[in-house]
Amino acid sequence: MVILRFDGEEKECEPAQLREMIEKAGISKGSNVIGGKIGKKIVDLFYTAQDGEEIELITFESPEAPSIYRHTMAHIMAQAVQRLYKGAKFAIGPTIENGFYYDIDLPQTLNEEDLKRIEKEMKNIIKENIPLERFEMTPQEAINYFKEKDQPYKVELVEDLVKNLNVESVSLYRQKDFTDLCRGPHLPSTGLVKNFKLLSVSGAYWRGDEHNKMLQRIYGTAFYKKSDLDEYLHMLEEAEKRDHRKLGPQLDLFSLHSDVAPGMVFFHPNGTIVRRELENYWRQEHRKAGYVEVITPMVMSESLWRQSGHWDHYRDNMYFTEKEDQHFAIKPMNCPGHIIIYKSSSHSYRDLPLRMCELGTVHRYERSGVVHGLFRARAFTQDDAHIFCTPEQIEDEIVGVVNLIDKTYKLFGFPYKVELSTKPDDAMGSDEIWETSTSALKKALEDLNMDYQINEGDGAFYGPKIDFHVRDSIGRTWQCATIQLDFLMPERFDLTYTGSDNAEHRPVMIHRVIYGSLERFIGILIEHYAGAFPTWIAPVQAIVLPISDKNVAYAKKIHEILEKAGIRSFLDDRSQKIGYKIREAQLKKIPYMLVAGKKEEESNTVAVRLRSGTDLGAIDIKEFIEKIKAEISSKSQNSIFEVK
Ligand SMILES: [Zn+2]
Ligand SMILES: [Zn+2]
Repeated sequence: MVILRFDGEEKECEPAQLREMIEKAGISKGSNVIGGKIGKKIVDLFYTAQDGEEIELITFESPEAPSIYRHTMAHIMAQAVQRLYKGAKFAIGPTIENGFYYDIDLPQTLNEEDLKRIEKEMKNIIKENIPLERFEMTPQEAINYFKEKDQPYKVELVEDLVKNLNVESVSLYRQKDFTDLCRGPHLPSTGLVKNFKLLSVSGAYWRGDEHNKMLQRIYGTAFYKKSDLDEYLHMLEEAEKRDHRKLGPQLDLFSLHSDVAPGMVFFHPNGTIVRRELENYWRQEHRKAGYVEVITPMVMSESLWRQSGHWDHYRDNMYFTEKEDQHFAIKPMNCPGHIIIYKSSSHSYRDLPLRMCELGTVHRYERSGVVHGLFRARAFTQDDAHIFCTPEQIEDEIVGVVNLIDKTYKLFGFPYKVELSTKPDDAMGSDEIWETSTSALKKALEDLNMDYQINEGDGAFYGPKIDFHVRDSIGRTWQCATIQLDFLMPERFDLTYTGSDNAEHRPVMIHRVIYGSLERFIGILIEHYAGAFPTWIAPVQAIVLPISDKNVAYAKKIHEILEKAGIRSFLDDRSQKIGYKIREAQLKKIPYMLVAGKKEEESNTVAVRLRSGTDLGAIDIKEFIEKIKAEISSKSQNSIFEVK
């Protein structure tokens, strides 16, 4: 028997094709069901169930639905390309987060116009509402079939399936004139999802290997609801406007020079101010939370990295150097450095927990194809910390770290989601330590009244972890903070503390970051705020703009008063029209523009404008300073003048 679960109900059926079972079970909303979930596996209506399986049905509204209909959309796109372009050879066409793509070998390079033509043909295919059929072949039959159709990539893929998985049959999906080698899952026909858009086309090597032929990758997206598609396209538009790689140089925050230091960031004075403000806040909060700050070397001996296990598991991502016949590695992580400090003295249970933090710059090699501005760099600074504690202290320590994360994310207006990853199959350490530590993590999250999702079996082999995903102002999510428990490093480095029983014990190590990487977090902030930073981190907090050359002396006096008051001020005394200077300051997203003319000089005021365009009129200079200082010290996200 097979159990079907739908809408909180359970039905027992004889094993058969899912489509038939749904019909037989008389599931009323059957027409809206497009597949099912067996554990983590997603299957479509063509799936033939096995005795004893429990299948949770998936409808168009289910979170798993996009992975089904976007996959069919990739086939529809390939079918359209096949109809329009002779000699198209198809490679792979998977779904990705928010969309799908297909890698295709074509005799011509596609452009925007081609994408429009393909979209039009896709609409025809959707209108034709072609039923999909699933069938199987032996690998040899499939190879012959694709050879005959001049599809060499498909031939290679089948050969791989035989070589790597020793399969005895492969599945294919056919929709009239288009047939693809495919595992599925798919919709039963091409007419069920209509809301899609092709986004771009770019080059991609076959199998991601630059020695292979460059294919063309067409990206697209699809949603069940038109409103969801519109919202997503709007978000993409916003994201493009906010792209930190564009805003960074425009606001003179940083630059990238791939000829000099690929994947590494040059922080300009403005960007350095933003970064130092984040560091200052971080330092202040960590001191309050009982952390001690350390600084460890950038270059440490290769043998240390052998002992830590990085040599075995991470060598390909590390940079090395050599002097006086000694081999060194540039640190890709801060943990071994902190362990050296821990081991340099003996510890009693009374010293624990020991919370050691460092703004530690690490270097990790990433392929040039994947480096991406501040988001994925080869050198970055982690706001790292390692907590050495007893197993009994885990829960309290987690509560402390989560509180620190919560406070930090609230400061930037980031809502966030929490995910707990538990013991994987290849775990090291006793069942007992996994049991106590995982329940300590759960208990901490429950004590804090946190909603969290459990990712069963997704933890690292050396310990469970908690991830935090922030949601930015345009709805994208970013993984930033993690809290990772580690039973392995204390073993490898033989870390101990003396317990109250006078015996030696193993401490637990907690790795954690809050921003994640300063570089990446700054990239996220640039896009989150579209460059308009809150005043406390803005590189220039106020700009003084004399109306004419006659007002420069007064403007200069104002500028000096501001500087003395600790406000980052800039004097724009160029002989430009005031309108031009205001527009420029607005483009630089400076929070306050202080216009100084004859009238203001006479009344010892400034005419205050916000970057949003709001004109606050004349304000007494003392009053302005008082208010902006209050805004800065409270680290407010909004202008104090706009808060009612
Ligand atoms: Zn497919
Ligand atoms: Zn670590």
